Amino acid sequence: MSETTPVARLPIELRTEALEQLLIERGLVDPSVMDKFIQTYETSVGPMNGAKVIAKAWTDPEYRARLLAGGTAAIAELGIKGPQGEHIVVVENTPQRHNVIVCTLCSCYPWPVLGLPPSWYKDPAYRARVVRAPRAVLAEMGLELPAETEIVVRDSSSEVRWLVLPERPAGTEDMSEDELAALVTRDAMVGVAKVKTP
Ligand code: FE
Repeated sequence: MSETTPVARLPIELRTEALEQLLIERGLVDPSVMDKFIQTYETSVGPMNGAKVIAKAWTDPEYRARLLAGGTAAIAELGIKGPQGEHIVVVENTPQRHNVIVCTLCSCYPWPVLGLPPSWYKDPAYRARVVRAPRAVLAEMGLELPAETEIVVRDSSSEVRWLVLPERPAGTEDMSEDELAALVTRDAMVGVAKVKTP
C-alpha cells in the first residue's frame, strides 16, 4: 500500500477536475445539478441523520423493533430516504456480538443515514483486511474488543446497505433523544467504534 501524502493526492484532484470538465463539455452532467448534489451531501445529508435514527431506537423500544425488522421503512418514518438507501438493514451491536460494515467490492454505503463514505472505508487495505482480520483492524482503529465478543463482518452491496445500531453507553439514562443523538458518531454506525459515555 502506498502512503497518502498531500502531494500524492494532488494528481487525483487534478484528474477528478479534468474528468468533471469532460463530462460537462460532453453534456453528460449538468454542473448546477452536480453543485447542488455536493452541497446537499455537505450540509443536509450525513451521519447526523443516522444519529437521529439511533437515538430514537435507544429511547423508543417499539421504534427499535421496527428498525431492526425493516430498516428502510423505519428510517423513512423520520423523513430520511434517498439514493443508495433503498435497502438498508440495521444490525444491533451487543456485548456478545459486534457487527462491522465493509464493502469488499467497492464502497457501497447507506448514503441517506451516513452521507458519503470516508476515505478509509474506500481504501483497499480496509476492505481486504477487515474481512480477514477484523479484530486486529478494529484494534488498529482504536477499538479493542474482548476476546469473548463475536465479530461479524457485514458486506454491503448494491442489494443491501448495512447500518449498525450501536450499544447505548452507560450513564445516559437521563439524556434526551437530542442529547443522545449528539453522542452517536459515524464510526459507531459503521461498527469501527463504540459510542462513548460523555
Ligand atoms: Fe460497493
